Amino acid sequence: MHKTLSVFFILTMFAFAPWIKGQELDSVVLHTTKLSDTVYLLLPEPGYGGNIAVLVGEDGILIVDDMLMPLTNKIRDAIESIKPGPITYLLNSHYHYDHAGGNAAFGNTSTIVAHTNVRKRLAEGREAGSQFIEGQRPKEALPVITFEQQMSFYWNGEIVDLIHLDNTSHTDGDSVIFFRDSNVVHTGDQYVNLNGFPFIDRDVGGSAIGLRDNIRMLLSMIDHKTQIIPGHGPLANKNDLQNYYKIVSDSIAFIEAHKNTGKSLEEIQEIGLPKQFSEVTGFMPAATWIGFVYPDLP
Ligand SMILES: [Zn+2]
Repeated sequence: MHKTLSVFFILTMFAFAPWIKGQELDSVVLHTTKLSDTVYLLLPEPGYGGNIAVLVGEDGILIVDDMLMPLTNKIRDAIESIKPGPITYLLNSHYHYDHAGGNAAFGNTSTIVAHTNVRKRLAEGREAGSQFIEGQRPKEALPVITFEQQMSFYWNGEIVDLIHLDNTSHTDGDSVIFFRDSNVVHTGDQYVNLNGFPFIDRDVGGSAIGLRDNIRMLLSMIDHKTQIIPGHGPLANKNDLQNYYKIVSDSIAFIEAHKNTGKSLEEIQEIGLPKQFSEVTGFMPAATWIGFVYPDLP
């Protein structure tokens, strides 16, 4: 297995994967935060699984992401206490198992919508990167409506835009989901607010440079009142995203400068990132990030 990926899987297996710590999923509490009259955040604690956005109103219920299969009953309970009724639409920000892992539980009664490559990767049986599920996914776990660049919902008095920003990024099928009237955006894992560097799923063509450029684009699409739901971690604002962008872009510039002097990946990992990044200690670690950036640079 690729070195950077093995580091990733060790981390995520201990951090998220149900087959390692299934019993701990029983202890997960979903915290509900009201962000506007129509939009709510479901944040898991401990953070097994990605954040969920819930849109409710007179037309029905739409959600973004569904965490992991063992958490689907808790998700249903949490949504029920916001508003009883069926979940009409389920949007997937990307295909990873901690965001789309509950699809099979919802797909019979909810219409799943995602970028075309989310369907492709789920149909391949991928969980994340080179990790595959055993056997085949049931057909109800797959999106039934897909898009390439952008689509919109007019639902509950809210315009909801799903946008695949220009570049492959965290994966090859990431969306950001804007709730326009509420000024809320769900970023998927292009932004993880856990004080670490990004994970890049290079097995499906993800790109560190693409992620940087997408985040720059995203910053131009929001304002200081925008409430940002990251893929994981607490609710954020534009300042937080600007700090994240600076960490991403400055670290890429550092790695690029060293690569341009002829240094190998291992040599740069040995040098490590400079002091300005010493506080960036969360998921994902610097050496892994260097391993994502280096092969992506010219
Ligand atoms: Zn992800």
